[in-house]
Amino acid sequence: MDVDGTRSVVPPIYPSTTYARAHDHSLPNLGGRDLCYARPDNPSVRAAEETLCDLEGGADCALFSSGMAALHAALEGSMRACVQSTARDDVFVAAPTCAYFAVRFRILEWCASRNIEVVSYDPDLPFSVYGLDPSTEEVREESEAKARRSGYAGKSLRTVLREQRDVGRRAMMVWIESPANPGWDHVDIQSAVDAARRCDAFCVCVDATVTTPIIMNPLALGADLVMHSATKYLNGHGDVVAGALVTRVEDETWRCVTHERKLGGATLGAFDAYLLSRGMRTLELRVKRQSTTAIWLANAMKEFIDKVREDTGVEAGVVLYPGLVPGFAKQCKEHDVDDECTPDGSTKRTYHGGMMSLCFYDFLGSKTDEKKVRVERLVTFCRMFATSCTIWTCATSLGGFESLIEHRYSVEEPGSMDPFIPFGLLRLSVGLEDRRELLKDLKSAFWRALDHMRKQEGVNVDSLRSLDK
Ligand code: PLP
Repeated sequence: MDVDGTRSVVPPIYPSTTYARAHDHSLPNLGGRDLCYARPDNPSVRAAEETLCDLEGGADCALFSSGMAALHAALEGSMRACVQSTARDDVFVAAPTCAYFAVRFRILEWCASRNIEVVSYDPDLPFSVYGLDPSTEEVREESEAKARRSGYAGKSLRTVLREQRDVGRRAMMVWIESPANPGWDHVDIQSAVDAARRCDAFCVCVDATVTTPIIMNPLALGADLVMHSATKYLNGHGDVVAGALVTRVEDETWRCVTHERKLGGATLGAFDAYLLSRGMRTLELRVKRQSTTAIWLANAMKEFIDKVREDTGVEAGVVLYPGLVPGFAKQCKEHDVDDECTPDGSTKRTYHGGMMSLCFYDFLGSKTDEKKVRVERLVTFCRMFATSCTIWTCATSLGGFESLIEHRYSVEEPGSMDPFIPFGLLRLSVGLEDRRELLKDLKSAFWRALDHMRKQEGVNVDSLRSLDK
C-alpha cells in the first residue's frame, strides 16, 4: 500500500499525534478517512488493521492496546447496541467454563458490575481429561468439585441458549474460545453459531487467539466478531502487547465498538502497529511450521507417556492437543499441499496450531499420602520439569517464535478467584526450533525432574528408573 506516494515498499511508521489542516481547513484524507488525531486514526495502525481484516475476511478491524482491551470493547459495544432493542433485564452473557482465565474472570466482573447475569456453558468435550486420572480417585473428585465451584455448568451452549430463550431471555453476547486455553477443549463454532441464531442471540464473538486466521476464520463460520490477543501469534515475536476485533458487518454493534475505542482510548501506538504488521507478514509460515512441529511432538510425547505406563504400570499423564481430538480438524481451513505429501496422499491438509499441554497425574510416590502432600509433590515435579528445560523457556505467554513452557496452576492459582486448573498441567507453546531438539529437551527435563524428586524430595521413583532413557 503506497500510503504517502513515496512508493516505499515497507509502510512507514507515523508517530505524529496530530495532522495539519489545509488553507480551506480540510483535513488530510487516507483511504476514505479524515486524519485529525492519532487516538482514533493513525496510518500505521490502519495498515495493520487492513492486513488483519483481509486475513479474517471481515468488513472492518479495530486494534487495541491489549487483548483484554479488545474484550472490554466487545462487551461494551454489544451491550450498548443490544439494549437499544432489548430490555436490559432480559439479556444475559453466555460464557464458557473453559477459557483463558483472565478473560473468564473479566467477563464475570464486568457483568457483575452491570447487573447482567453470566450463564455458563461447557465446551463440546467438557473436562474430558481433567477428571480422568485413573490412579487417584481422590484427586479426580477434588478436580470435579473444583470444577463445579468455578462454574462448571454441566450444559452445552445449545442447552443454555434454548433454556434461556424459553424463559424469554436473549444472549447479548455469546463468548466462544476454541480450543480453550489451557486444556484445548473445543466448541464446534458453526453449530454453536447456528444454535445462537435460532435463539436470536445478539452477538457471537470468538476469541481466535490460538487458532489464528491461518487455521480458522470464525466470521466465515457465521460469528459476528472475532477477537485476538495480537500479543500472541499475530505479532509472533514476543515484543508487542496488542488486541484486535474484526467484524463481519459494519453494523450498530461495530459502531458502538469503535466508539468505545475512540472514547475509552485503548488504542495501539504507531510503533507497536508497525511491529504487528511486520509480524503478520510471516504469520502463515510460522503457524504452519509450529503446527507441524506440534502434532509431531504431541504424538511423540504420547508415545513416551504410553511407554512409561507399559514399562512401569504407572499412569503418568496425558497429552492434550487439538489435533489429537476428534472433531476439531473438520472446522479447520484446508490448505493446498505444495512440496510435501500427506500420509494418505491427499493434496489438502489442515493445521491444528502450536499449543498443547502435558497433563501429569499424581503418579509419584504413594497414593496413600495426605492429599496436600501429593498435590505439593506434583506441583514441585511440574515446576522442576518446566525450569529444567534448556530450549523451552519457562515463561508465560504463547504464540511467539520461541518455545515456552509453563506450569499453569502456579500462575493461575495464587490470588485467583478459584479457577479450575489441573495441578499437573504444563502448557507448551511450540516455537520454530528444531523439533527433535525440542523433544529431546522435554524428555531430559522429565528425567531431571524425576531425579530431583528422588534426591531432594525423597520420593521413591524406583519403578520408573527401570525405563530406558
Ligand atoms: N485471549 C487469550 C486466549 C489469551 O491467551 C490472552 C492472553 O494470554 C488474552 C485473550 C488476553 O490478551 P492480552 O494479554 O493481549 O491482553
